[in-house]
Amino acid sequence: LEADKVRNFSIIAHIDHGKSTIADRILELTGTISKTGSNKQVGASPPTQMATRLSHNDVIMARPQVLDKLQVERERGITVKAQTATSFYTHEGVEYMLNLIDTPGHVDFSYEVSCSLAACQGTILVVDAAQGVQAQTLANFFLAFEKDLTVIPVLNKIDLPGAEVERCKAQMESLFDIAPEDVILVSGKTGLNIEQILHHVIQRVPPPSADREAPLRALVFDSWYDEYRGVIALVELMDGRMRPGDRLTSAATNLSYEVQELGVMYPEQRPTDGLYAGQVGYVVCNIKDRQEVRVGDTFYQRGKPVQALPGFKPAKAMVFSGLYPVAQIDYEALSAALDRLVLNDPAVSVARDVNAALGPGWRLGFLGILHMEVFSQRLEQEYDIQVLLTSPSVCFRVHTKQGELLEVESPDKFPALADIDFCEEPMVMGTIVHPQEYTGAMLSLCEDHRGVQKIKSASSGYATFDYEEIGYKVSDIVKVQIMLNGDPVDALSIMTHGSRAFSKGKALCQRLKETIPRLVDRPNVGQWIDPHWWAGWGGGGRGTHQLEVLGSHDHNPHIALHDSQLVEIAIQASAKNKIIARETVRPFRKDVTAKCYGGDITRKKKLLSRQKEGKKRMRAINSIQLPKV
Ligand code: GDP
Ligand code: MG
Repeated sequence: LEADKVRNFSIIAHIDHGKSTIADRILELTGTISKTGSNKQVGASPPTQMATRLSHNDVIMARPQVLDKLQVERERGITVKAQTATSFYTHEGVEYMLNLIDTPGHVDFSYEVSCSLAACQGTILVVDAAQGVQAQTLANFFLAFEKDLTVIPVLNKIDLPGAEVERCKAQMESLFDIAPEDVILVSGKTGLNIEQILHHVIQRVPPPSADREAPLRALVFDSWYDEYRGVIALVELMDGRMRPGDRLTSAATNLSYEVQELGVMYPEQRPTDGLYAGQVGYVVCNIKDRQEVRVGDTFYQRGKPVQALPGFKPAKAMVFSGLYPVAQIDYEALSAALDRLVLNDPAVSVARDVNAALGPGWRLGFLGILHMEVFSQRLEQEYDIQVLLTSPSVCFRVHTKQGELLEVESPDKFPALADIDFCEEPMVMGTIVHPQEYTGAMLSLCEDHRGVQKIKSASSGYATFDYEEIGYKVSDIVKVQIMLNGDPVDALSIMTHGSRAFSKGKALCQRLKETIPRLVDRPNVGQWIDPHWWAGWGGGGRGTHQLEVLGSHDHNPHIALHDSQLVEIAIQASAKNKIIARETVRPFRKDVTAKCYGGDITRKKKLLSRQKEGKKRMRAINSIQLPKV
């Protein structure tokens, strides 16, 4: 197949706008997978191999035969990662190779979106006709726009009675400068006009410019770890060709490898005897160290170096949180689980850390709150380890009077007031697009978040938000220190802007006061952290809470263990060495195992031993009396 018969494209959309459904319809149309629900074998993929993460929901509902496969994939931890599928389609008598490169939807994952887009020349922009343009439509559109991709605008779900085709077209025109007559009206549900999308891809998306005779130059745009075969890299060949047995060198590391296997994703890995310029495919080189394969790297034939491709700006962690096992006994298991998860999510930064109160753990960096949520959920669900995540924080810079510059991600690293010269905080430039009638609400939302208004513009559409980092700015950052019975507990403390210290300190004390008795009433006392319960406090919640996390300290073990404390607890908050808030919790006592677990002795024992373990740690951090069980 000649390079001019290749089309590399992606689909971008806001979540739930129908990206997976449309991807599925495309793969059906091209015979890559069989029609939903039918077991008919089409193309080269037997039904058991039809799982594709292009269509999670649909697969789960309609194709139970692929469930097992999905679970394995989940275990490998690549569910939020981009996925690629190759298909073949004949248009006007000519066969084309279509490489559909999937992208994750959320702005938190924009690093991965941008890696996937780098391997494309075009993108299908899907908008839900009933919802209109939304935040990620906007963010993803601009990523594609920056990369000069051909955009194929599609309005999906036009079968819905609530579809507002004209309004959406007007929106796309005003926001993206897309001519209304260029918008393809489709229904992923009924399959209406999906074929038209393919025609537009073939006619409008340029083939990759590629020279097969030139020396090999391959862009690594995604990779994951396979337990049996090591790192699997997805590459786009910009120039040249690649065959099994070839010796490749990485421009980034200078290490060389022998190609064991290569092929296309069809949508499963399908070995071929070569990959050619313009094509997208996978390469297996028996690489065991995940770190050796960097997304954005260039592979060339050993001994024939080429100009490396520009690569990608590495993912930069923006939100930091401490991770600790609830019971230290789980430390090794958690460590192993973490290693495995990080193998397939290199955007997470990991540093070992020891917290005075919580013991050994890790400091993790995430791209955003959602990224953190997905990661911690996977840790809990897939590895069944109860973890503590401390309040997410950005990284502040503290300039000390001694002239040092400290990067402070965690309250326990915040220097004493007397040592601080000045602080800086990271800033983002946020863009909000909203209908005119919400201007007032948007402005007060921004003000609530200490936003500084730069540009005021009104537009049509739903409120959408996107942001980019713009560096650090001098800021009045203070540590709000929480004390229990006079003892500072850093694990409960937060760092915040001076203007917020008082209100946050007060709110924090009130919450702790409410939280302590509440935990006692929770039947499942042994389970110290319940992600749902925690999410309710804003730690993992969506919406505006994301910006204003008041500290998700509530799940700390020493709080949970107060169920068995017998003395009064004084909760105090101080900032700049002044007490700013105080609350008191009256003593109470309750039998941990009462009313739960009935007669199940082993669970009871387990619970009690966990409680004991927790208490030991508890003693280390404050002086509250704990009765013997
Ligand atoms: P994604 O998050 O963008 O991948 O969205 P999905 O493809 O998972 O679709 C989200 C929901 O919309 C699913 O419940 C789909 O069944 C539904 N959906 C997708 N396309 C259509 C459509 O054309 N019409 C209707 N009525 N529902 C659709
Ligand atoms: Mg989807």
